Amino acid sequence: MAIILTVSPPSSRKTTKKLSIQGALCAFVLVVTLVFICILAWNSWNTHTAKLHEAQTSTSNMAKALAQHAEDTIGGIDNVLVGLVEMWEQNTRESTRLDRLNTYLQDRVADLPVLDSLSIYNEQGKSVADSWGTESKKIDVSDRAYFIFHREHVDRGPYIGPPVHSRYTGEWVITVSRRVEHANGSFAGVALAAINIQNFRSFYESFDIGELGSIALLNDGGTMLVRRPFDDALVGTDMKNGPVYQYYVRNGPVGTTVITSSLDNVERIYSYRHLDHYPLFVSVAFSNDEVLTDWREETIRFSLVSTIVIALLWILGLHLIRQIAKREHAQSELRAARDDLERINGELAALALEDGLTGLANRRRFDAALDEEYARAMRNETPLSLIMLDVDFFKKYNDEYGHPQGDECLKKISKTLKTASARPGDLVARYGGEEFAILLPGADTAGAVAVAERVRMAIQAINIVHAENVGGAVTISAGAASFIPFRKNNSPADLVLAADQALYEAKESGRNRVCASDSSKRQA
Ligand code: GH3
Ligand code: MG
Ligand code: MG
Repeated sequence: MAIILTVSPPSSRKTTKKLSIQGALCAFVLVVTLVFICILAWNSWNTHTAKLHEAQTSTSNMAKALAQHAEDTIGGIDNVLVGLVEMWEQNTRESTRLDRLNTYLQDRVADLPVLDSLSIYNEQGKSVADSWGTESKKIDVSDRAYFIFHREHVDRGPYIGPPVHSRYTGEWVITVSRRVEHANGSFAGVALAAINIQNFRSFYESFDIGELGSIALLNDGGTMLVRRPFDDALVGTDMKNGPVYQYYVRNGPVGTTVITSSLDNVERIYSYRHLDHYPLFVSVAFSNDEVLTDWREETIRFSLVSTIVIALLWILGLHLIRQIAKREHAQSELRAARDDLERINGELAALALEDGLTGLANRRRFDAALDEEYARAMRNETPLSLIMLDVDFFKKYNDEYGHPQGDECLKKISKTLKTASARPGDLVARYGGEEFAILLPGADTAGAVAVAERVRMAIQAINIVHAENVGGAVTISAGAASFIPFRKNNSPADLVLAADQALYEAKESGRNRVCASDSSKRQA
């Protein structure tokens, strides 16, 4: 007999469960990745903000310090000028004093290293006295902005002019000047201090503001006086329309902002401050790029490390998901194999108890059922009956019609036996060869005889042709036996023996009949 072994597919419930575990793991890895990225972005943004804030504080502090420096420098020089004007207006018009004045001017210049020169010009712009000595007497400054300003303004305050090339040295100088008057208040000339912008340049160069940082000193009119990085072409340039000056005009004397320079297109953090007492302002700027260089490198480093960590997390996660999938698959296959085995075992067990030709219970099952029913009948003290049946002259049937036809005949008889004795607790079995048994729990002798008789008549009724038998059709003989089991008084074998004896009697007394083991109940 061929047994086909089929493996059932895993149930959909298991598939859903498997998917949900893998889905949860996937979601977990995704959430961890997102949280990681969020923390990184948040941290990076905070560092970015802190760096910019730090730079703003630095530029603001530097602007304050540089404004103070300019204030002190100009203030010191202006003090000298005030003294000079007073001295000139009151005392020194006499030529005898001029030599002494020249010496005085030279001493002041020597005292103040930032000073390039000190000089006094008369109302025609001609040099009267200066720190350079007598050689410079030919100098004429009547065309200079500061001279024209003082000539035309009675204002006695200091004037800071645009940078000019010194007529003594040819170098760039910033001029601080005051008007000199006659006793009647009319214009008498100009007292002038020149500051070599090299002084400011050197001072500004001493600060660490990076490669792209800038420092600038401008006057109120927006004219560039000094700038770092230094460019000769920029000295004296009008910066009125530059973004920093425009911001200063709009936002007042102190401020910090991020602006792209109109000079070199570099984006910078600018802090500027106007001097308290002079019409000047300074600006200090750090390049945004340079301020953020460390932050950028740190962010790139962090991002790389994070990418590696996240990649490892995903590799681990996917590996785990694959392992779970494999294990689930193996488990579901095991479950399917176990189910199949159980089913096959059931089928084999059923087959082991079934007769191959007729499909009736076989001898093994009959013996087991007999023992079982015997025990039950003994417990319940109920009767147990057995009918043994045998086909009459079956050898002759085989001889006449052949063995295969004999098999067919046995199948038909089996079918009839089943239908004719169909009570739920009854068991019809093929006892061996052409011999059958019907076990009837709860039936007494009369009941068993009645069933046997019904079966006998049913077999006769299907009328299987058997020429060699009396009547020309297949018939059976049956012996019925019945008892109520009592321990030690009888056994299952006794019941079989009794039924067999009754069958023997039926055969002996002419066949096609039923005999009960109690001979008084014999029936024809
Ligand atoms: P009786 O009326 O006394 O029982 O005579 P009988 O010929 O039926 O008795 P016997 O015991 O001499 O013969 C039984 C025959 O049943 C012999 C055997 O060939 C036949 N037989 C037993 N089992 C099978 C089977 O499975 N198929 C077929 N075709 N014949 C079988
Ligand atoms: Mg026989
Ligand atoms: Mg027989």
